Amino acid sequence: MEKAGSYHGSCFCGAVRFIVSGEPVVMGYCHCESCRHWSAAPVNAFTLWPADGVRITQGADRIATYAKTPRSNRKWCTSCGGHVYTEHPGWGLTDVYAAVIPGLHFQPGVHVNYQERVLRIEDGLPKLKDIPKEMGGSGEPVAE
Ligand SMILES: [Zn+2]
Ligand SMILES: [Zn+2]
Repeated sequence: MEKAGSYHGSCFCGAVRFIVSGEPVVMGYCHCESCRHWSAAPVNAFTLWPADGVRITQGADRIATYAKTPRSNRKWCTSCGGHVYTEHPGWGLTDVYAAVIPGLHFQPGVHVNYQERVLRIEDGLPKLKDIPKEMGGSGEPVAE
């Protein structure tokens, strides 16, 4: 049996620190407009964890939340503005951005919301038009 991992994360300035335990449910890249706009990047490398796997160890009082829709509670540090994670209450999952937990070996398995992409990534991984069926999407594959 594989031992569950424990990964240290922090915001950009280090005031907010947290530990993510267990193993991610799924890892990949999201190309949706919301992720791109929020992250100010062409694509978001996500790692989705059961919500109870994320534990704040420092700076909980510095974490602010913005929810444009009830599907996503986006968290960032009020000292540096660095993004830390996004809660998806409807799924019981939390997206911890791969970039803030450098100790995790990021192994992307899928590209989601690829119909909204601005950057093509020809890496041979499956590309979904939106999101998987079991998460409320069409699950439809699209070409790279
Ligand atoms: Zn910070
Ligand atoms: Zn997205």
